[in-house]
Amino acid sequence: MKALFICVLPLLLVSVVSAADTFDIYVLDTEGGKAVILTTPQGQTMLIDAGYPTRNDRDTNRIVEAAQALKIKEFDYIVATHYDADHAGNVPNLAARIPAKVYIDHGEVLPGANERDKKNFYEPYINFVADKKRMKVKPGDEIPMKDLKIMVVSSGGKAITEPLPGAGQPNELFADTTRPDITDVYDNAGSVGLLFEFGSFRMLDLADQLQPGEYDLVYPNNLIGKVDLFMVSHHGFKVSNSKILIHTIRPKVAVMNNGPRKGGEAEVFDVLTSSPGFEDLWQLHYAERAGKEKNRPEQFIANIESPCQAKMIKISAQRDGAFTVTNTRNDFSKTYKP
Ligand SMILES: [Zn+2]
Repeated sequence: MKALFICVLPLLLVSVVSAADTFDIYVLDTEGGKAVILTTPQGQTMLIDAGYPTRNDRDTNRIVEAAQALKIKEFDYIVATHYDADHAGNVPNLAARIPAKVYIDHGEVLPGANERDKKNFYEPYINFVADKKRMKVKPGDEIPMKDLKIMVVSSGGKAITEPLPGAGQPNELFADTTRPDITDVYDNAGSVGLLFEFGSFRMLDLADQLQPGEYDLVYPNNLIGKVDLFMVSHHGFKVSNSKILIHTIRPKVAVMNNGPRKGGEAEVFDVLTSSPGFEDLWQLHYAERAGKEKNRPEQFIANIESPCQAKMIKISAQRDGAFTVTNTRNDFSKTYKP
């Protein structure tokens, strides 16, 4: 009897996990880094970035714990959006605990990235994937995953030049705009940017893309179309998250992966909350530098004090486009209609 239980229990758990017909997105707290777990109705999984490499394995432990709770022993994909510390920097450590069938990245590091980061984060990642199954993506590629359509819209400093299906309208809202001139000494502009579709639900995640790369996606034509959910870029820094991008793609909801003192800039709060049709911004942390009037009400913030308990924000999307966002700190949740 005992042996039977041991055999049956895992099967029951698997069927419970895969029973829901939802696309679930877990935005984990890595204190201003990025780590997002995605699961599909048929049980496929993706991890986007792996937080920071730290001596105490803080982010590795957080991701492993979340993955274990979801019964994930191997990811179908791990995406290293770009070769900065808080994105690709911890992928080799995390993958030593939970590997992936395929590793996705944008290919060669941008030439303008600083030498220290190339040595500390790019080279170790490249050594790590040398004997793994690797997919270097370029704009226009699709990542095959059951139930989802995942389109690469930017990668390696380049953007799609053809509109996504149903998009491509001239950008009349911003008729006289010029391309912003922003560069940095990191690999941010190389970020792999992905548009996810699950039925009629659409989510855009550009990782740490900067404003010029955003501009190329929506000007002179809106190549993206409208989205339901926008993963706030680059932890809420204003060198990303341009008004032209956000007010053109018009998200209903946005989720910001800021740290207590990283990202979360006041200007980004203003751009988001003034966007036509925008309903709610959810934050991983209270943004200390933005001030009380910019931060959203506490129920929309996963972590309000520092040090925090690393609570996450979960999004559960349905094929009709409806989706529910949950703050795991207080179980406050809100459902958005298609
Ligand atoms: Zn980052």
